[in-house]
Amino acid sequence: MRNSLTCPKCQGRKFYEVGECTVPAHDSINREEPLTVAAAYLPTGQRGLFGAQEHGRFVGQLQSFTCATCGYTEFYVGQLDALAYMAQQQVSTVRFIDASAGSTGAFR
Ligand SMILES: [Zn+2]
Repeated sequence: MRNSLTCPKCQGRKFYEVGECTVPAHDSINREEPLTVAAAYLPTGQRGLFGAQEHGRFVGQLQSFTCATCGYTEFYVGQLDALAYMAQQQVSTVRFIDASAGSTGAFR
């Protein structure tokens, strides 16, 4: 739908695009938190003060594309590199599956 600019359900051609989906923070009325498919706090590969391994927040934040006529919605993740890193670091909720030709299937 995002590429064709035509809704597959109603053939509508008007949309709402949200570049970074969020939810209200549970502890504040004026702050939002990212709506994600996965998030993890992982080593960044950088060394900080005194040589300690630095860690950072990795998120796969949702983007949405909604038909303005019927509400049909597609979701996308903008940070595919973050998902790849989470799969490589064996974050339990993220699994890479390669079903392309010549692949043996699931990969961890
Ligand atoms: Zn529609």
